[in-house]
Amino acid sequence: MATPSKSTQPSGVIDKLRVPLDTQSSEQTEAGSYFVANYPPFSFWEPGHKEAVHAVLRSPRPVDTNLGVYFHIPFCRKRCHFCYFRVYTDKSAAEINAYLNAGLREFERYAASPYLAGRKPQFVYFGGGTPSYLSTDQLHHLTGRMKELFPWDEAEEVAFEAEPGTLTEKKLETLREIGITRLSLGIESFDDHILEVNGRAHRSKEAFRAIAFAKTLGFEQLNIDLIAGMMDETRENWERVVRTAIEQDPDSVTIYQMEIPFNTTIYREMRESGRVTAPVADWKTKRAWADWAFARFEEAGYTVNSAYTVVKNPKTTKFVYRDSLWAGADLLSAGVASFGHLGGIHYQNQADVGPYMTALEAGELPLFRAYPTNPEERFLREFILQLKLGHTSRAYFRNKYGEDPAIRFREQLTGLAAKGLLDLVGDEILIRREGLLQIDRLLQGFFLPRHCDASHS
Ligand code: SF4
Repeated sequence: MATPSKSTQPSGVIDKLRVPLDTQSSEQTEAGSYFVANYPPFSFWEPGHKEAVHAVLRSPRPVDTNLGVYFHIPFCRKRCHFCYFRVYTDKSAAEINAYLNAGLREFERYAASPYLAGRKPQFVYFGGGTPSYLSTDQLHHLTGRMKELFPWDEAEEVAFEAEPGTLTEKKLETLREIGITRLSLGIESFDDHILEVNGRAHRSKEAFRAIAFAKTLGFEQLNIDLIAGMMDETRENWERVVRTAIEQDPDSVTIYQMEIPFNTTIYREMRESGRVTAPVADWKTKRAWADWAFARFEEAGYTVNSAYTVVKNPKTTKFVYRDSLWAGADLLSAGVASFGHLGGIHYQNQADVGPYMTALEAGELPLFRAYPTNPEERFLREFILQLKLGHTSRAYFRNKYGEDPAIRFREQLTGLAAKGLLDLVGDEILIRREGLLQIDRLLQGFFLPRHCDASHS
């Protein structure tokens, strides 16, 4: 991956609400994560709710809900020091084949359910881990059967995360052949020292080569990921990285500000040495760097279209996966530790390969925990996630949920407007750049009180 499917497939928990809504609070980067990937928070999902997923699968297919299909590939060449995903770096080709076959069994079970049978995905997403770790044969085998079960011929987007060092020309050609439309490269930095210090497996030479060859193949969208505030990053170096990214002329760029969740190598070293502050830039600095990057991309003709993305052509470059999911689409998610959403029920799969495969061998779905959302939570979920786009429509929520978020959240919105972080303009709630740069910590101010309990686990 990189920082990929962070929008939907995070580490699994909001570790703690480390950064309060008060924007004057400590700006040091401490351990923990406040990235809001979903709502209600993952820590409220429970094994006792798994039956709700089965009940949805037995129900008739919906008439007007888009479907996305996600598959998680948890293998990487090497574990990055900032990685908070469950990844395996030591699996043989035979073990990976067995994992892929288990994943296909999982898709078969879903395809046989009344709720999903015969539905064609609007979007498909391969995340990880490192999907591009798979061989060309493995890619053909996996996607060939997936297409038989859930045909992609009407999909508006087929996205694939790749680590540059795993991309041979043959593999890139294979990705094009199997129908990938968005290739997302986990570049993170173009500086070899930064890549090395942060434990990345690839180097800039591989990134440049992958970008150049991918361009000759005509993927509909070439995206690159960058991270502001990796270990040893300096302002001067970050500016060089951003300028290099602009020179590479990708269709879109994703920029994340570095967090140090608890299950990272960096956190383990902090704990062992008794440090509270992470060895990366503070939040104010990271926001300034992301802001500088957004400004340079805008000068180069790009448009900021979410808290984390810039696109060269907003008319043609879409993030169907993100936008559809944040508007309530179903997400059939397969693979170890993956997160899905079907008929208003959140679910997560078993987080380790062992129990995941055992469940499928026993003819069961490998579910770990679930959460049945109620209409109020679905309203809040969409509102919270759509604010990450930088704007949202009050009419959308009135029409869909019969409630106006500007009325429901009058106090919070007025408070944020008074701080210069957003504007209420007619039908629109518009997040200003300063608000967008710290949107995740602001979003926690819209959670229901029962979901603000950081001690819940
Ligand atoms: S180890 Fe690195 S490449 Fe693999 S998922 Fe984690 S961050 Fe991505």
